Amino acid sequence: MALPTAALTQLQATFPDNLITPTTTPYQTARTTPWSQTCWTSAAGYLPLSTVNDLTTALSIIQKTGSKFAVRTTGHNPNVGFSSADETAIVLDIRQLNSMELMPDGIARVGAGCTWGEVYAWLEGQGLSAIGGRDPQVGLGGFLLGGGMGALPNLYGLGADNVKNFEILLANGTLINANAHDNPDLYRVLKGGGSNFGIVTRFDIQTYPLIPIQYTITLYNPTDHLAINHATATIQAAMETDPKIGLFTNFNHGFVAVGLLYGDHTKQPEICTAFKGLESIMTAVPPTKGTILSLATAMGHVQEERKRAISTITTKVSVELYEDVYTLWNGVRSTLPDGCILHYTIQPMSAAGVRAGEERGGNVLGLEGVGQVWWVFTCEWPTGIDDSIAQAAVETMSARVEILAREKELLLDFKCMTFATGSQRVLGGYGAENVKRMQDVAGKYDPEGVFQRLQFGGFLLGNSV
Ligand SMILES: Cc1cc2nc3c(=O)[nH]c(=O)nc-3n(C[C@H](O)[C@H](O)[C@H](O)COP(=O)(O)OP(=O)(O)OC[C@H]3O[C@@H](n4cnc5c(N)ncnc54)[C@H](O)[C@@H]3O)c2cc1C
Repeated sequence: MALPTAALTQLQATFPDNLITPTTTPYQTARTTPWSQTCWTSAAGYLPLSTVNDLTTALSIIQKTGSKFAVRTTGHNPNVGFSSADETAIVLDIRQLNSMELMPDGIARVGAGCTWGEVYAWLEGQGLSAIGGRDPQVGLGGFLLGGGMGALPNLYGLGADNVKNFEILLANGTLINANAHDNPDLYRVLKGGGSNFGIVTRFDIQTYPLIPIQYTITLYNPTDHLAINHATATIQAAMETDPKIGLFTNFNHGFVAVGLLYGDHTKQPEICTAFKGLESIMTAVPPTKGTILSLATAMGHVQEERKRAISTITTKVSVELYEDVYTLWNGVRSTLPDGCILHYTIQPMSAAGVRAGEERGGNVLGLEGVGQVWWVFTCEWPTGIDDSIAQAAVETMSARVEILAREKELLLDFKCMTFATGSQRVLGGYGAENVKRMQDVAGKYDPEGVFQRLQFGGFLLGNSV
């Protein structure tokens, strides 16, 4: 494999104090930044960039030398090569693009390198909230470009639905805005179309008066799976008429973690009694009247260094299917070596949530207006276990659930980018019309196909349709 020597030489000359190569001290830290150890690969170089001008210069060098590159904010995406690279490519680290400015009209202009924790804390200091991730360490970049499911998607739509403007660096070095008036075709596809069109340098996001949120996370016994699945589906039905309800149900080793959320402090929805008859193992997070930041802080925790793989599928709501998935999960995990933890989460998205996105201008995801589950299957394992076994476990889960759901006519084409494994055809799941839309926009704004040819990985139009 060839080193990108010409790019390294020019980047070294232009950014002598910044470029991180294998012989420099920060190399190991840069290499081991990603959430999943599978992404701790050794890139030819890491280049932290703190201004859009520097990013423009770096991209120009990359392009002229024909070097491969990856863009990284936090490195939370566990797919190898998405925000990591091997010795043939350079990682552009844009975490320092972290400016934050509140405009008089309530739009927050936020650098693409910020984390949700930083943005929530800054906004809450001013009595405001934004629609972002459920973990404070996740970055805006991959989350918003992939759609992004927040705590209350039924009420506010997705994170991407709440972006009013994208400031984006195109392959030809120009910096443009994409919003409802300027470059609206690009604006539309950036709401879920990933890193196919350029490098987003700033997101201008809608803010709301401080969103009150009640939440509790309770652990139940997996042997109560039937009752848990029933209660989950009951709450999903209730979301259609009360979109303030949020929920996740995570089947894990020895426990099922159920997060019940409600976007209001003044009342307790009756439906939250759906789990009441069930004996819990313990209360992980007691009933709390808080904010999106306090919820994210409660959900996000320092995680052990682990290798990780994820996979996703989208289906309609069905207790029968949930039971089949539970049985399938038990079968697959029984084949895994000790220490290899396979778990899965039922993440509801209601028809009300799809409508909330449409009301905010729509996105490119091609979501059907029905109650649905954005399943995420996750495997976590320590070094010493064959990576391919764990990767196969999550892929088996999504492939088998796809078959089960298709048989029952419960399968939906959509797959959420932020929960998908690298080989899943995420963009194809958005539907033919949206694929054409993305291809046309990519051809118009990146006619030489720089982001298709030179980007090291990602859900790209060339591999994900
Ligand atoms: C602990 C944890 C909690 C999570 N919680 C949620 C959740 O609540 N909801 C949800 O939907 N997802 C969630 N995710 C998934 C997360 O949104 C995705 O992994 C997302 O890709 C992370 O984006 P990032 O920018 O932080 O990471 P990175 O790995 O740095 O980037 C991810 C991808 O986006 C590209 N990219 C990043 N920034 C830009 C940019 N500015 N311009 C162009 N391309 C860019 C990168 O090249 C890469 O392909 C979670 C993940 C973890 C690990």
